[in-house]
Amino acid sequence: MTIITRFAPSPTGYLHVGGARTALFSWLYARKHGGTFILRIEDTDLERSSQASVDAILQGMDWLGLDYDQGPYYQTQRFDRYKEVIQQLLAQGDAYYCYCSKEELEQLRSEQMANKEKPRYNGKCRDHAVAIEGREPVIRFKNPTDGVVTIPDLVKGTIVVANKELDDLIIARGDGTPTYNLTVVVDDMDMGVTHVIRGDDHINNTPRQMNILQALGAAVPQYAHLPMILGADGARLSKRHGAVSVMQFRDDGYLPEALLNYLVRLGWSHGDQEIFSIAEMVDFFELADVNGAASTFNMDKLLWLNHHYIMHSDPEQVAKHLLWHIEQRGIDPADGPTLADVVKAQRERSKTLVDMANASVYFYQEFEAYDDKAAKKAFTEDADEVLARIYEAFAAVNDWQGELLHQIIVDLAQVLNLNMGKVAQPLRVAVCGSGVSPAIDITLSLLGKEKTLNRIQKAIGFIKNQK
Ligand code: GLU
Repeated sequence: MTIITRFAPSPTGYLHVGGARTALFSWLYARKHGGTFILRIEDTDLERSSQASVDAILQGMDWLGLDYDQGPYYQTQRFDRYKEVIQQLLAQGDAYYCYCSKEELEQLRSEQMANKEKPRYNGKCRDHAVAIEGREPVIRFKNPTDGVVTIPDLVKGTIVVANKELDDLIIARGDGTPTYNLTVVVDDMDMGVTHVIRGDDHINNTPRQMNILQALGAAVPQYAHLPMILGADGARLSKRHGAVSVMQFRDDGYLPEALLNYLVRLGWSHGDQEIFSIAEMVDFFELADVNGAASTFNMDKLLWLNHHYIMHSDPEQVAKHLLWHIEQRGIDPADGPTLADVVKAQRERSKTLVDMANASVYFYQEFEAYDDKAAKKAFTEDADEVLARIYEAFAAVNDWQGELLHQIIVDLAQVLNLNMGKVAQPLRVAVCGSGVSPAIDITLSLLGKEKTLNRIQKAIGFIKNQK
């Protein structure tokens, strides 16, 4: 049997971390078993769906590297098929027209609530519907009235629901458009989905969907319902907890590998291992190891993972992501050192690519002003003379490389009888604008001779001006 999984987002917003985790687990399961992973856009709610959301979801999937073998399918392109299945259910006697008005249903609902009963449709039109002139009927599924539905959930364990708990749900609205539970069932059936892996907010839909599948004579897939993701305060993770959109994490300087590694551990574990390459995730992933309880989103851990991946990934790979941040700042990377060299120089001190990009602007562009504090400290009265000596020595260098430059600074400090800091710090502030940078030899070699000399010159002018 070929495993077929799907990720079926409704395009009513960006791809958020909960959705991304669902997508990841579905993707991993398919990849692990050499199966097929489908992307299906559930866009039947025309009012809430938007092209911008579709684009955001596709962009998020792409950025995370969650590639799909089929799709994206769009439910709005399959309306004819849904109609066909609805007709089939009507013809079989597994569905019926319901003419009950909104007011009637509301009345029923409030009576049930008053009696402390679970609100549910009373089946009035099930056996003897009376057509009402001018009223567009909805179509309801005739749910079995006795027996139970058993869901052998791969995460939560076996769940048993009595059919008498389930009422006859609407599968087509008055205007003939199909509802969520119907479209999902038709798609899962037509697409041959073998494993439905989704959030546990859908658990109540599952027995209903299984009943419809059975009425259609379709194979019932296996289900795996993933637990919720909570914020630190124990409430369901949402915007007010900070970033929840996948692309926001890109904007905030996270690597997709770090986010994936973080997400895979939200509810899944493999011994006490924390760091997983994609290949390891695919290798080790088992639905049986998914924890049934909710997990809590921990920003500090994500940040820790991000730093790990910035430190240990191939610098060329990290550079590809840094490029986006550099370009966001209007910088042409051709105006300075290669980004992979910048990654190597900055990775230790950068927890995010935003940190890294911000700390690297001076390699490419002139900075506007010196950091006040750093300038006050480093640009002492005779710093211009020290810088002038450095300028002179550097100007004579043909082979611009860090080791040699470093030696020049060491020698100069000795000749001037100053400690290293008294020479290196004014130089650092002169070329970077601040007191923080990678080791001075690396900084200078990345900056290049021309920018270094220009900036030393500028700093000499600045110090003289202040006297
Ligand atoms: N479209 C549904 C959602 O975004 C998911 C349906 C499913 O996975 O069955 O919540």
